[in-house]
Amino acid sequence: MQNQPHYDLLLKGGRVIDPANNIDGLMDVAISGAKIAQVGPDIDPKAATTVADVTGHYVTPGLIDIHVHVYNTREPEGLSVMADFHSFRSGVTTMVDTGTAGAKHFLHFKRTVIDQAKTRILAFINIVKSGMVGDFEQDISEMDPELAASIVLAYPEVCVGIKTAHYWTRQPWDALHPPWAAIDGAVAAGDICQKPVMVDFWPRPERTYQDLILKKMRPGDIHTHVYAQQFPILAEQNKPRSTPRVVLPVGGCRGVQPFLFEARERGIIFDVGHGAGSFWFRQAVPAMQNGFKPDSISTDLHIGNVNGPVVDMLTTMSKILNIGLPLPEVIFRSTVTPAREIGRPELGTLSVGAEADVAVLKLLEGTFGFSDCGRARMTGQRKLDCALTIRAGQVVYDPTGFTMPEWPAAPAPYWTIR
Ligand SMILES: [Zn+2]
Repeated sequence: MQNQPHYDLLLKGGRVIDPANNIDGLMDVAISGAKIAQVGPDIDPKAATTVADVTGHYVTPGLIDIHVHVYNTREPEGLSVMADFHSFRSGVTTMVDTGTAGAKHFLHFKRTVIDQAKTRILAFINIVKSGMVGDFEQDISEMDPELAASIVLAYPEVCVGIKTAHYWTRQPWDALHPPWAAIDGAVAAGDICQKPVMVDFWPRPERTYQDLILKKMRPGDIHTHVYAQQFPILAEQNKPRSTPRVVLPVGGCRGVQPFLFEARERGIIFDVGHGAGSFWFRQAVPAMQNGFKPDSISTDLHIGNVNGPVVDMLTTMSKILNIGLPLPEVIFRSTVTPAREIGRPELGTLSVGAEADVAVLKLLEGTFGFSDCGRARMTGQRKLDCALTIRAGQVVYDPTGFTMPEWPAAPAPYWTIR
């Protein structure tokens, strides 16, 4: 018995980036059942049933995308994508649906999507009880903090917080539509269930961005869509186009409004949430070059952006990479920080004993074009590609056959077996 393999799968020869454990180097990763069994140099290949040679690739924790829409509602309201068709091919093993469902539809969402998917799906519950099913996000009678919080408290294994979004502007503001109603309701719900609120926001003179991040949001609350056009994050923002923008060295903050750093200091989290309208190179590049990096990278994937400009998680990460964030930091902000933000620090790591969610990535070098939400283009030299994804020890994406024998060595086809 002592010659029996110890491991089901061994990923051999890759460069492991596991920021939670300060690992960045050539190492092997061994998986037994659904768990990470060992991480270290030169693990004996004879100890594994299957060995995947991932030389030349990066091995990272399964990626965590904390802003997606995967609750497939009825046509024509449906805006969501099918989680498993878009997660694994991009190295993502955990997706957080952000408010597609409110309290009214959560159980349907759980039964028909969350419990069926192979992707780990978690949820922010919309403060609006009908969520994004239909057009109710302007209706303050739909915002019930007690109800939204009760769902989060009842399903703590799935629900990670409260979402508020798409509460637009009306002028003049009326009693039925006060400017801060959605934010106040979401924060009240977050207080009841003691969970973070994720905020999608459109500033107006009656409700400024500064007041949102300096006064209304609580430490640990997440502002998604940080590089959208509507946020006055750059000092130079409203100057005429002919005025050249000054690009300052990384670490400086003159080009970025100081109140952003003040908000970060008080614990406000800034998330990418790319989306169909919320990621502009004209905002993201100067902000990042002047030291204002996103805390977490996420896609806001839905049917309106999956064919561009978002495409997937790795395309979004590649944009951030080409703007100048080093790869280990890009991985850190797609694994460790999102896990912390949603209160699930056991995710986003390759620690021994953790659930074996793993992404094997290739860093392509060449000339690549990337598009944003403002019909602008950026050319970059590097692009991340997914080679292999493992979810809870199961191979869920392996298009190039890493875990398969070369065909001459493969067993006879099933139909010839008598
Ligand atoms: Zn969204």
